[in-house]
Amino acid sequence: MDEKFLKPYDSKETENNIYKLWEKSGFFRPKDGQPLADSKIKKEEVFSIVLPPPNVTGNLHTGHAIMLAIEDIMVRYNRMLGKKTLWVPGTDHAAIATQSKVEKEIYKKEKKNRHDLGREEFLKRVNEYAKNSHDTIVNQTKKMGASLDWSREAFTLDEERGKAVNEAFLQMYNAELIYRKHRIVNWCPKCQSTLSDDEVEHEEQKAKFYTFKYSSDFPIYISTTRPETKLGDTAVAVNPNDKRYKKYIGQEFEIKKFAGGPDLKIKIIADENIDLEFGTGAVGITPAHSHIDYEIAQKNNLPIIKIIDEYAKITNEAGTEYSGLKIKEAREKVLEYLKANGLLEKEEEINNNLSICYRCNSPIEPLPSLQWFVDVNKKFKLKNSKLKGLKTGQDVSLKEIMKNAVESKQIEIIPDRFEKVYYHWIDNLRDWCISRQIWYGHQIPVWYKEEKISLEEKKGWEQDPDTLDTWFSSGLWTFSTLGWPNNTEDLKTFHPTSVLETGYDILFFWVARMILMSGFLLEDVPFKKVYLHGLVRDEKGRKMSKSLDNAIDPIGAIEKYGADALRMAMIIGVGPGNDTVITDEKIKAYKHFANKIWNASRFVFSNTEDFDYEEKTEILDTDKKYVDELNEILKDITKDMNGFKFYLAGEKLYHYFWHRFADVIIEETKLRLKSTDKKEKLSAQWTIIYILKTCLKTLHPFMPFITEEIWQNAPWNKNKEILMIEKWPKI
Ligand SMILES: [Zn+2]
Repeated sequence: MDEKFLKPYDSKETENNIYKLWEKSGFFRPKDGQPLADSKIKKEEVFSIVLPPPNVTGNLHTGHAIMLAIEDIMVRYNRMLGKKTLWVPGTDHAAIATQSKVEKEIYKKEKKNRHDLGREEFLKRVNEYAKNSHDTIVNQTKKMGASLDWSREAFTLDEERGKAVNEAFLQMYNAELIYRKHRIVNWCPKCQSTLSDDEVEHEEQKAKFYTFKYSSDFPIYISTTRPETKLGDTAVAVNPNDKRYKKYIGQEFEIKKFAGGPDLKIKIIADENIDLEFGTGAVGITPAHSHIDYEIAQKNNLPIIKIIDEYAKITNEAGTEYSGLKIKEAREKVLEYLKANGLLEKEEEINNNLSICYRCNSPIEPLPSLQWFVDVNKKFKLKNSKLKGLKTGQDVSLKEIMKNAVESKQIEIIPDRFEKVYYHWIDNLRDWCISRQIWYGHQIPVWYKEEKISLEEKKGWEQDPDTLDTWFSSGLWTFSTLGWPNNTEDLKTFHPTSVLETGYDILFFWVARMILMSGFLLEDVPFKKVYLHGLVRDEKGRKMSKSLDNAIDPIGAIEKYGADALRMAMIIGVGPGNDTVITDEKIKAYKHFANKIWNASRFVFSNTEDFDYEEKTEILDTDKKYVDELNEILKDITKDMNGFKFYLAGEKLYHYFWHRFADVIIEETKLRLKSTDKKEKLSAQWTIIYILKTCLKTLHPFMPFITEEIWQNAPWNKNKEILMIEKWPKI
């Protein structure tokens, strides 16, 4: 027995060496000698998964750690089942997030903004930052024990992914699924960029709700929390069944110098969606500054007057009295006028949902802007459909493809309660604004000359200065990492991927967009299952964050307790889709467990030194019972593993090892191991070896480092075979 077993288990010394051993073995790569690599591999014997690429914005956090732990369990388990197993690593350039982080740093140090530096110099700085972050993240990922195939590592902004992005854009443009138009977008005046609907967050706040008329001879009162936007109103909408207002429908009113500002032309229109009970039952329509009003305006051919600009200031369209004012100033001015002229009927306090930027928390201004969009409703013809229930030649929209993928069960979401959330989101999906007014990212592959547009780079033509929404490139992730647009062996073998594992908070941001992209570009699903994990919280149930100073740093925890302990603490007790509570105590408890495994192994090794592995052993009835019992538990655990219930499997293994094997079986066997009856002794020796071996194999996906370390030093492993590719025990 190696001397190291005389000391307590040292995760720090072990883990780096073991990771190097695995990397050197080549077994992270599916073709380098996994059990099935040389035989003809059927599609169902493949297990593939892409790593949700961490952003290159700093360090690994607990959210990443839990993702790595769950995915590595899946990957190691499937590898041990003998499947051709691939886990693709990569990182995400995370356009807005990374750019704004670097902008802040530069401003802090040099008091310069990106315009002072210029596009080229600025991008150089961002790329440097991204490179450093990348290296940190890769190192930290390895510390978690993640068995990723590093030879296939990808970056959303590298050259190959750039080609995929341009090809995707071209194909969608040619199918008229991408268009450029003046449309209402979510605009962040601070970030100076558009945001997708999912990048807008909502914050409840107290607000004033004002009821007033445009002028004394206007017949209808309207209500709003934003009176300043009324400077851009072009209609008042009422419900067609509203007896109070029916007679006005179709009439047009002119209001001279509304609130001392612009002349308004207000048409009274009917709209089924107007709620008779809400406010006065009449709504002032501001087509340029509300998504809903914009849609109503489109239906009714109303003019669109932009009265708020990109800096959240009032434009000339609102008249010289208001031009250049800030939103708040304009609001005060309008209210003053309404009060002074007896037009304000009442003022109430209400709770209101304010739309804010997910990045900087500034209020969002919906405003019309010339942007690129993906049309989610336009139909196109399927050319070679691999989508369940949708046939080649059929006309479908992106929205229908996304809905069908889950409805047809071609994709299964675990836990299934998220399916409802998914459908709801799709039903409310608007065209996706994909252009961003930032520099870091994939520049839009379109060139202009006067009125002409080209999708091929042309000399003397001007490229669109905007970049693509970061989710455009990550939407291609399952197949851009496998060589698409080329029809590579990787793509044929590993796509659709088996599972996509990620946090439920990016179900829409990312998961839905991957289904959209793959649905159109490959006419196939990107994955067969979606496994959603929850958020990581502290013992008080609060989300971990820097500002609360309650975040557990996974790398610090690994230093202190070992990666195996951290992995167990993140898995046990947490079902899919549920939030994880993690504390220092919990991680420490699994460090004790690692020691328990270590000590039990020492006991087995030191009590079986004279055991002859070549000799056939007769198993006595006492021991048969132990073996049968273990096999029953294994059946159960294997079922849990196949059903993605890793939290149950891990817990059962923990309890069996500690409370059954170490506490009871070893105790009951102690005397027999010293017996002078050779049969008795051999049978007992054989049994504790069998149980330890089986436990090491089944614990390996959960606690890969310590199990591998013990396996490397086990007396039955003279050839130093690697545990990572041992077969999962078959019962
Ligand atoms: Zn912002």
